[in-house]
Amino acid sequence: MLKGVPSLAGRNLRLLTTQGQVLVHHQHRAKASAAEPAELLDQETDLSKRAKFGHTGKQLQQKICKEKKLRAPPLLNLVFANRKLSFYDTSSTPKTKEDNAKLSQRRHYSMRPHREQEQRNAEDVLFDMFASEETGLISMGKFLAGLKTTGIRRNDPRVRELMDNLKKVHKLNNYETGSSAETQHLNRETFKAVVAPNIVLIAKAFRQQFVIPDFTSFVKDIEDIYNRCKTNTLGKLADYIPQLSRYNPDSWGLSICTIDGQRFSIGDVEVPFTLQSCSKPLTYAIALEKLGPKVVHSYVGQEPSGRNFNELVLDQNKKPHNPMINAGAILTCSLMNALVKPDMTSAEIFDYTMSWFKRLSGGEYIGFNNAVFLSEREAADRNYALGFYMRENKCFPKRTNLKEVMDFYFQCCSMETNCEAMSVIAASLANGGICPTTEEKVFRPEVIRDVLSIMHSCGTYDYSGQFAFKVGLPAKSGVSGGMMLVIPNVMGIFAWSPPLDHLGNTVRGLQFCEELVSMFNFHRYDNLKHLSNKKDPRKHRYETKGLSIVNLLFSAASGDVTALRRHRLSGMDITLADYDGRTALHLAASEGHLECVKFLLEQCHVPHNPKDRWGNLPVDEAENFGHSHVVEFLRSWAEKVDQPNEECQPEAVTTKTQADEEICSTSDLETSPATSPIPTPAESGSRAGSGRSSPVPSDAGSTASAGSASSIDDKTKPGL
Ligand code: GLN
Repeated sequence: MLKGVPSLAGRNLRLLTTQGQVLVHHQHRAKASAAEPAELLDQETDLSKRAKFGHTGKQLQQKICKEKKLRAPPLLNLVFANRKLSFYDTSSTPKTKEDNAKLSQRRHYSMRPHREQEQRNAEDVLFDMFASEETGLISMGKFLAGLKTTGIRRNDPRVRELMDNLKKVHKLNNYETGSSAETQHLNRETFKAVVAPNIVLIAKAFRQQFVIPDFTSFVKDIEDIYNRCKTNTLGKLADYIPQLSRYNPDSWGLSICTIDGQRFSIGDVEVPFTLQSCSKPLTYAIALEKLGPKVVHSYVGQEPSGRNFNELVLDQNKKPHNPMINAGAILTCSLMNALVKPDMTSAEIFDYTMSWFKRLSGGEYIGFNNAVFLSEREAADRNYALGFYMRENKCFPKRTNLKEVMDFYFQCCSMETNCEAMSVIAASLANGGICPTTEEKVFRPEVIRDVLSIMHSCGTYDYSGQFAFKVGLPAKSGVSGGMMLVIPNVMGIFAWSPPLDHLGNTVRGLQFCEELVSMFNFHRYDNLKHLSNKKDPRKHRYETKGLSIVNLLFSAASGDVTALRRHRLSGMDITLADYDGRTALHLAASEGHLECVKFLLEQCHVPHNPKDRWGNLPVDEAENFGHSHVVEFLRSWAEKVDQPNEECQPEAVTTKTQADEEICSTSDLETSPATSPIPTPAESGSRAGSGRSSPVPSDAGSTASAGSASSIDDKTKPGL
């Protein structure tokens, strides 16, 4: 019996047998076989006709669902709609004026077929990447595992269609034995139809075009930091209410979500905890979104208080210092009640606020812990005192009902969540107010900018100044052990571990933030342009290396000693070679730039005898191109170096440390006239004089293969 995996190649219906044979059933056959139900074929004809009238795939599916009162579109609808067959028929030649007009309209959209072609290519490339040569089928298990390494999870809303399609195909395939929907094997056409609705995201993932291109390596580093923090047993549980004192001090969870929705979680990431002070930036954001910064900040300041988070103190204008401490957050709650939604009941305002939090979290877990709420209200003498003190000082807007405001504040603190959901919230803040997983715009970017500014200066209680100095990123901590960290335009991170330090910040969370920033250049004031000893996971490894080598080789080829010096000062590895094994020394020699050759050997200590892929040494190059002065110099240098016990500088084989570089460079500038930053007339002359074509990489494109550039001591140099 046939185990049918239906797929569509052009206008045919293919069926795959269990042995992997493909049977092709032509659509024009009048009678459908049992494995090729007539209803499906009718739908196909019907759909291809309808598609001619300009529906988009999605519209078409919706329309058919509505007409046929289906809850979900049948698979064939989906296959056809996704392939976007025959939006217009390009085979017919226009005859009438009307036809001509239609054609010119089509030309207007001439990018469309092009883009579709590109997409089709992407689908094919993906298939070829994962398909088995033996069976000609793709294992969806392997494919989804590959997708996961890029940071995209199976439950990501942006691949929902793909996952739904897999279920539909699995069902149509009579639940292919021994496999689930997610581990089944598909032929090319079925695979292409299944991935088509989400191909843009999937192609982006596999092309490494996300903000963290090498997500796997990044995650490895994060795991290392996580494990180091795990062994830290310092800190004490909050005990002002029983629910917090009952937490397990060993709990430790960490979740990451990038602005491209790449996810990683480790540890206790699904254990629920209450938001506490981590709710403060969120209610502040709602107030800003609805009232604007002018109104909000006519009630609350923007200064760090320099005092405890629940200190009974106002600033010199008799306003709470900022919205991140208790007084400021209670004030924000009063703005929500009296100005944002004055007509809502308390219950409605609670629902309203929760719906904002939910949207920010992309629909992930946001709940409510009533026991915590009741305890918070019971143990709230200080918070009530703050409320009365502010009322005495006329801090609140008119019509404020203090009891309702206080309850609302406790409710916000008692909303329940977990690391997973909070990392998406943090990522929405990193992403200018747009949730990365649902792509919904929740807040305006100006609102987020203001929220992040205050989090940066006031987010970690009385540690805020030190945090801004050491970590240099906006963050918000809470007494339940949460720490929300935002790396603007990159990612959101949420760390949760209940033991707190004496200022009320999670001990493990704080250690994580500090270690993260000492490993990666995420600090607000880390330099992104020049090389440093920190990692930059945003950049593509080869892209950065490739660009550097293009610059280095062009400097050498054009005789620009000043540029070479700059590269060296920046800590660059001067021994780098391109795909063909060509080094800066090869190019300087072949172009006859003696000053460059001298600089590279005397100051940078590069090896004098690297071989390119054709076995040529720099001296061979100088000879081939008739630069006798360079040949002479290189020969005498080789003699000096090759003679043991001779007093000469050893050649550098490995990259020097930055500190070494700096020390050497300073002395170079002082002692060597040949390395003056201002070019000598000879240097300028040689720069201008090289008009002849040479074995220099002819354009950036050709050296783009220097994407696989490596230093000459790198035994694993690809392509050599
Ligand atoms: N519920 C706590 C309070 O108001 C929240 C404060 C905090 O997380 N630091 O005291």
